[in-house]
Amino acid sequence: MTLLAVPALSDNYVWLLADEAGNAVAVDPGQAAPVQAALARTGWRLRAILLTHHHGDHIGGANELAAATGARVHAPQDPRIAHADLRVTDGLHIDIDASSLAFDVIATPGHTTSHVAYFGHEALFCGDTLFSVGCGRLFEGSAAQMLASLDRLAALPASTRICCGHEYTLANCAFARGIEPHNAALAEREARVRALRARGEPSLPVTLGEELACNPFLRVDAPAIVASLGGTCRVERFAQLRQRKDEFRMAP
Ligand code: ZN
Ligand code: FE
Repeated sequence: MTLLAVPALSDNYVWLLADEAGNAVAVDPGQAAPVQAALARTGWRLRAILLTHHHGDHIGGANELAAATGARVHAPQDPRIAHADLRVTDGLHIDIDASSLAFDVIATPGHTTSHVAYFGHEALFCGDTLFSVGCGRLFEGSAAQMLASLDRLAALPASTRICCGHEYTLANCAFARGIEPHNAALAEREARVRALRARGEPSLPVTLGEELACNPFLRVDAPAIVASLGGTCRVERFAQLRQRKDEFRMAP
């Protein structure tokens, strides 16, 4: 299996995963052109498009890409995604035609109500639910819903490669540092990400194990975070953390 992060728009990634025979899926193609260029470069045949949620920066290129390649579009049940060949729901196992690729669908409401993630081949395609050292904004769901979604993702194997929809890691590290200033794993992650970004490389994928050590949104029960946010219940702590992040601005 080969995993490739294709940069699109300003800070999105379209993820490509290909099997040994060169059959591939594309996750959240906000744009078609960079994906088509990657397919031309690799020689991979696109068999399916997996969509996590209805936002334009994740679905904008899906129809064009489907028309050009014949790939089948998989999407959650949401009328705001007008076209799909297959509607996916929580717990569904999908086998991708003409490939050895298969995924399990995990409903992850919070960023939007119909958001889903796709898990397979030790990779998690989680759209705007889980970011490295961060999580998505609560546009439609509640803090309790988002926390429950993150709890489900956090229970996957620690070796899972987290493939997020955006390159937000450095800004997320700056925020997380303020919440957990003495977290050594976080400081290491930030230093590594800084070096990767300086070379123009993605900070992703990252393993779930690493995220559990440095992502504050997965650490609402860690003593340092409980101390930093006060002794409220975990949903309240999560809501408070999310609100602080919404208000956070990086120093110029
Ligand atoms: Zn989004
Ligand atoms: Fe997005």
